[in-house]
Amino acid sequence: MNKVIEPLSIELSGSGAIGFSLRPLDVPSFELEKKIPQKLLRKEEVNLPQLSENEAFRHFFRLSKLNYAVDQNIYPLGSCTMKYNPKVNEDVARIPGFVHVHPHTPDEFVQGSLRVAYELQELLKVISGMDAVSLQPVAGAQGELTGVFIIQAYHRSKGEKRDLILIPDSAHGTNPATATLAGLKAIEIKTEDREGILTADRVKEMVDRYGERIAGLMITNPNTLGIFEAEIMEIAEVLHSIDAQLYMDGANMNALVGHVLPAELGVDVMHFNLHKTFSTPHGGGGPGSGAVGVKKHLEPFLPVPRIEKDGDRYVMNWDYPQSIGKLHAFYGNYNIYPRALTYILMMGDEGLKKISEIAVLNATYLRKKLENRGYRTKFSRPTMHEFVLSLVNLKKEFGVKALDVAKRLLDYGLHAPTVYFPLIVEEAFMVEPTESESKRSLDNFAEVMRKIYEESLENPDVVRTAPHNTPVGRLDEVRAAKELKVSWRDGIED
Ligand SMILES: *Cc1c(COP(=O)(O)O)cnc(C)c1O
Repeated sequence: MNKVIEPLSIELSGSGAIGFSLRPLDVPSFELEKKIPQKLLRKEEVNLPQLSENEAFRHFFRLSKLNYAVDQNIYPLGSCTMKYNPKVNEDVARIPGFVHVHPHTPDEFVQGSLRVAYELQELLKVISGMDAVSLQPVAGAQGELTGVFIIQAYHRSKGEKRDLILIPDSAHGTNPATATLAGLKAIEIKTEDREGILTADRVKEMVDRYGERIAGLMITNPNTLGIFEAEIMEIAEVLHSIDAQLYMDGANMNALVGHVLPAELGVDVMHFNLHKTFSTPHGGGGPGSGAVGVKKHLEPFLPVPRIEKDGDRYVMNWDYPQSIGKLHAFYGNYNIYPRALTYILMMGDEGLKKISEIAVLNATYLRKKLENRGYRTKFSRPTMHEFVLSLVNLKKEFGVKALDVAKRLLDYGLHAPTVYFPLIVEEAFMVEPTESESKRSLDNFAEVMRKIYEESLENPDVVRTAPHNTPVGRLDEVRAAKELKVSWRDGIED
């Protein structure tokens, strides 16, 4: 085994056509069959296309041109906050000192990297008003899990075991999933039918019914309808009367940043979606960073190690005996920190305020325009950074569903919004233009939506069978994912 690989050897006296020949490399055999259990080895060869580098490159380049990205046009996926990602973020995130750090490098050699993380933590404290922050979780969903573990650890530290958590029916699917994963039972509370918010009275009913079995409540603010939870402070009071904790899903912070401190709303623990609010390209499952902020009484339970400042040194402190432990390897998704820090510093105090103002202005402008074009929302309250249309009238009168309108948008070269979420809106069509879009871009989106509305009245079939102009038509999405066909094209028509 392990023969030494000699460098490619050139024999000048050889018999090659121009007087030298190359001796092939002596590559050691790894004897895979002996190292990998027989039953795991493939029986037949994989049918992969055999291509030259040039052909493979052209294939992927061609695919990249068929792709859609926020760098191309509006990406109005509600809840996902697909905003512009400044290119300077990428330059900073690629600084070799950040990229090439080995995860086991001792603290004293990564002072710069630790400082970036520390400063970001400090800024998130200022932005949220919370007392301590951990950057460790690598997604919003993992931030939720961290937060719920912290709530459980807090109750356990008082010798209590609470088994229920309250979650409004407008919540993101990750909230009940998190609660279940943490071993709690999620109790759904109904949002107010007309106004689209959770009322303190409903929470009070739950507290009267379940009492100190309630560990806490998870609320998203503004909620997934884009509506500010106006009774959140009363809700916090009701919860605190039995020492239940208020968790805030902070995925929608781009509607609040610079104007509202979650800490002042009575929130005990929250997560940020750094990749959404503070700009990192995301989607398709990652990457993410779900930093968690807590009030003082929950600080001892934050994950370890904590990144701290000791004199003029930055250190990783493991010495927190009550900590819930470690949730992710090493530093979390480190490369999102320099991006978020760059974004925050570049925006500055005033800029951050403007983010939320423009996010709300853009979404409200677009909602009003679409309402003038025949589209309807379900709730009476004003919306903030996003809004949810209900296309139920189009479906009833013309047989055109939210999915059809979404597909038809593709024909006009636009990305579709989120559809069929939140679940409490029938034929939901959830639009979040973000603060990055210009008035021109919003007007264009509204104009295309107007055309589709008219088509739905006059020629519903063209909408029902869309898309017509895309490289592939309507897919059976489940089958396409499960029965993947590997093939290639170079763009030359046969
Ligand atoms: C995006 C989002 C999440 C989940 O965040 P991930 O980073 O995708 O795990 C949770 N709640 C809300 C409201 C969100 O928009």
